[in-house]
This record gives sequence, structure tokens and C-alpha cells, in this order.
Amino acid sequence: MNKGLGILGGSFNPPHIGHLRLAIEVAENFAHCLTRVCLIPCAHPPHKEESHLLPFAMRCSMLENACAGSSALSVSTIEGERNEPSYTWDTLTRLKQRHPESPLFFILGADDYQQIGTWYQGEALPTLTNFIVVPRMSQPEDRFVADTKSLWPQARFANNSAFLPGGGVAVFFQPPLVTISATAIRSRFLRGQSIRFLVPEMIDTFLQEHRTLVSAIWGK
Ligand code: ATP
Repeated sequence: MNKGLGILGGSFNPPHIGHLRLAIEVAENFAHCLTRVCLIPCAHPPHKEESHLLPFAMRCSMLENACAGSSALSVSTIEGERNEPSYTWDTLTRLKQRHPESPLFFILGADDYQQIGTWYQGEALPTLTNFIVVPRMSQPEDRFVADTKSLWPQARFANNSAFLPGGGVAVFFQPPLVTISATAIRSRFLRGQSIRFLVPEMIDTFLQEHRTLVSAIWGK
């Protein structure tokens, strides 16, 4: 089988060490089946309030800076090409057209995995992609099994994987936990607390330099 492409989609508002460590852990631990992990900032999130998002170009630029120099990571601005809700279904369909030989591995936290049933064409996603699911808190594997059964009652389980109707496989993967979220970082920033070491240094500097604009958007 050809090696595949890992996809980490998110709002990256801002990118933080939770995202970056997750991408690196997946790239290293799945190197046998992935060429790289591609981070894809969401342009128009269907499930989040868009007015609190830093401009798409700003989030892309922070992410590109953070990933520069990591050959296993790349950034795609594909969701900026459409001026409509950034449905994962549409993005993965386009990626499949551009990389027909590469199986896709969509990486996501257990919080988002649980919500797939509410996504556009969510239950059909295994026809396009595999999943790598990671805990956000100390969720046990039982929770992954329960969420998978509720999304796809026909799923078959073996070891830490679930074989889904449509052909995709969901793998439960437990890298070292980094429990930080962008929500917590925005709150700290707005309170004037340090976000040092929670984001790469250049992102910390960038956000401080643009404090007036950033506070206006995050503080809405
Ligand atoms: P917010 O707090 O604004 O909702 P977030 O920190 O959850 O943001 P997103 O950009 O929404 O970040 O996350 C993109 C993907 O990365 C999601 O699938 C999310 O579950 C996952 N993720 C984010 N932070 C972590 C983390 N610390 N550990 C593991 N997965 C994470």
C-alpha cells in the first residue's frame, strides 16, 4: 500500500503546543504508513463562532512559521480557496482528487470525534479517510469504543482499531497528554497572563506585537 497523508484540521486560533506535539507524535509513530502530517487551518468553521477567529492569513502564517524546519509537517491553505463553510467532507474530497494514490488519515481529538455525527456527511467520512483519534483529557479507550459504536453500530474492533463501514479504519492513539486548548490560551492572553511555552516563541511574540487587534477579536 502507498504511504498516506496525515491531516490535522483545526481553527488554530492560535496554534499551540498541543497541536504541534500531536502532529509530531503522529508523524513519528505512524511513519510506516504516513509520508507527513499536513496541518489545515479552517477558513469558515461550520461549528464555531467566526467573529472570534483571527484572520485566516494570520493563523496560516503563525502555523507556517511554527512548522518551518520540520520536514514531517506541512501546512495547507486549501480551506481558504472556498468562500463557504469549511466542511471536512469537501476538504477531504479535494485532497483525494489531488493525491489519488495516498490514503488519508484524519487526526482528531476525542472531543471532535464524538461530534462527527453532527458534521456534514459525517457518517460517510470513512468512505474518504481513516481516523487517528487521540484523547484530550485522560479518556480511556472504552470511550473511543463507545463513541465509535454509537457513530457506526456496524464497526468491527481489533486491538486499538475499529474497521468502519465504508472502508476506513479508526485507530485510538495515546501520545503523551498535553491538555492545553486554544480557549485556555485566549483566556490567559486576554487576562494579561503569560502564554510563554504554551505556544512557540515566535507565536507568543507575534501575538504580543499585535495585541490590540488580537484582543479586539478574541475579546468580542
Ligand atoms: P478551541 O479551544 O478554540 O476549541 P482547540 O485547542 O481545541 O481550540 P482546534 O484548532 O479546534 O484547537 O483543534 C484542532 C484539532 O486538534 C481538534 O481535533 C482537537 O481535538 C485537536 N487538539 C487540539 N488541542 C489538542 C491537545 N492539546 N491534545 C490533543 N489534541 C488536540
